[in-house]
Amino acid sequence: MSNWGEIYKSIGVQPIINAIGSVTMLGGSTSVQEVKEAMDAADSSYVPMMELEEKAGYQIAKFTNVPAAYVTSGAGSALTLATAAFMAGDNDDFTEQLPDTTGMKNEILIQRKQHYWYDRCLELAGAKLVTFGSEDETTKADLEKAITDKTVAVHYYAEEQRIDPKALSLEDTIEIAKKNNLYVLVDAAGQIYPLENIGKYVRMGADIQCVAAKYLGAPHSVGFALGTKEAIRKLSLQSFIGYEGRRIRGVGRPQKVDRQEIIGCVVAVERWMSLNHEERLSKAETMTQTIIDKIKHIPTIDVTMIENILGVQPFGLTITPNSKADFTVEDLVEKLKSGNPPIWTRKAFFAKEGEDYMEIHMFGLNPGEEKIVGDRIVEAL
Ligand SMILES: *Cc1c(COP(=O)(O)O)cnc(C)c1O
Repeated sequence: MSNWGEIYKSIGVQPIINAIGSVTMLGGSTSVQEVKEAMDAADSSYVPMMELEEKAGYQIAKFTNVPAAYVTSGAGSALTLATAAFMAGDNDDFTEQLPDTTGMKNEILIQRKQHYWYDRCLELAGAKLVTFGSEDETTKADLEKAITDKTVAVHYYAEEQRIDPKALSLEDTIEIAKKNNLYVLVDAAGQIYPLENIGKYVRMGADIQCVAAKYLGAPHSVGFALGTKEAIRKLSLQSFIGYEGRRIRGVGRPQKVDRQEIIGCVVAVERWMSLNHEERLSKAETMTQTIIDKIKHIPTIDVTMIENILGVQPFGLTITPNSKADFTVEDLVEKLKSGNPPIWTRKAFFAKEGEDYMEIHMFGLNPGEEKIVGDRIVEAL
């Protein structure tokens, strides 16, 4: 692209090649063409936002085969609004009182094994996270023991790429939660492939499943909640639209979504549900192979293709400095980052203690950038 990154350069920001993938730190996503066009078309008029949210939710629910849906300011906001909905329900006084939870059930249970980067979003509306189970494993009894008269919900982090056999399963979580009249909230932000996973956790019995639309061709800043009619209706009361449309001042007011983004999200979900995913995966595999072919002869590194096709980052490769290497992964990351243009990579996110390898992903690469990445690794080493 001849004008690559010019708009950023014009205000003094250095554009980069993103070989890490869909990370918020680097901008998260690029809307696909259909979505951009739909968003432009949405500029042509104003609409009552309550009606737009309702009808957009209806469409997304239909595409994903769940009873109800609601577009939010990212999956992060869907998590926050869900917790507020669980605590305040239909009580408008409670809605206006949050994040002060006096008089409400405010405890959300989370397995110690499942504490993760985004669990902060669960506390923003005032809920208190209460941990159950140990570092090592979680049992049904751990969950049962942790339930008190303040418990309002159980959170579950769905990660089908790395199911932990010693964590409490979602099936068991739902069974115990429902026996105790508790809500079940699932963070399934990245569970967008296989397609049946979009909505699956709701069909299994969870009240709300949060999805990040950044992973499926929508603007970075949108996401959606899928759920039962009742849970999604309560969530809608907490949103910025609930605040303005109902004149009930909930905590969701700063988490705005544009009408263009709501339309973009609907179009992105519709496209994603009917996309040729074999083609999408095959493109990612070919790009990965291009990099591997360029760098596999380098004697100081071992290179493997990642075979994963689940979730948001299919294929990609790992690079491990071997016994002939006189550099670390960090050295290589720094070298690529300090070149022109900078290429951003990182040490594997899931590398265990003592492991030293890098992962390269295709999600954020423009067509052709895989060749640059391959050549620059050759140059660097
Ligand atoms: C990206 C992500 C989020 C946050 O989603 P946003 O749309 O960026 O707010 C939450 N949970 C997981 C697992 C994610 O990958």
